[in-house]
Amino acid sequence: MDQMWPLEGQRVSIPDVLLDEDTGKSFTNCRMCHLDLQSPPVPYMVEKVIRHNKSLNLREELFGYAICLECAEEMKGQISKESMEVIQEFISKNVDLQKRMEAIFFQRDNHVEEVLSNCMLSGQSVEAAEEYQMAALCDGDKMIVGMWPYVIDSSVIGQLTELLSPETLGNMDDFYGQNFGLPPEWADLFKERPVFWI
Ligand SMILES: [Zn+2]
Repeated sequence: MDQMWPLEGQRVSIPDVLLDEDTGKSFTNCRMCHLDLQSPPVPYMVEKVIRHNKSLNLREELFGYAICLECAEEMKGQISKESMEVIQEFISKNVDLQKRMEAIFFQRDNHVEEVLSNCMLSGQSVEAAEEYQMAALCDGDKMIVGMWPYVIDSSVIGQLTELLSPETLGNMDDFYGQNFGLPPEWADLFKERPVFWI
């Protein structure tokens, strides 16, 4: 688990865009098991999906949640071995890992701002995206900078989803339905959408 979730790395304040939109503060509980994430502080993932109205330059959060690492691991377990290989191949083809590692290593002051401005897979600015998702690894009220955070244009995720097995997509739908207690307006958003805990 430690390898999967590298907890070493610079800890910075969580950017506003990754805070709980309802409170303007760090997320307090795991969406699945309701574990308290803040007292004492524990590591967790944040995921958000943002709709971007380009003509009005408005951003609307479609949903955002935090999930403890144990639940994130369980979620990841819904992805079949074959689909995981497809995801890894897609990432290695599309992500400039060297550039990303250099950026992490040199830790320029604007590094976080930079990674939250461009799709990790297409390299395009999120300004050009109609919808995008963000993920971050946090610890209490801090964000750990490393492979996370990242932003992915939803249209690129669509390309990836097409490559995944029906088994994986079905498992993930069932998993969300059973564990997330999704409000109806979220259910469609989660449908056939892989969660990207790379
Ligand atoms: Zn949990």
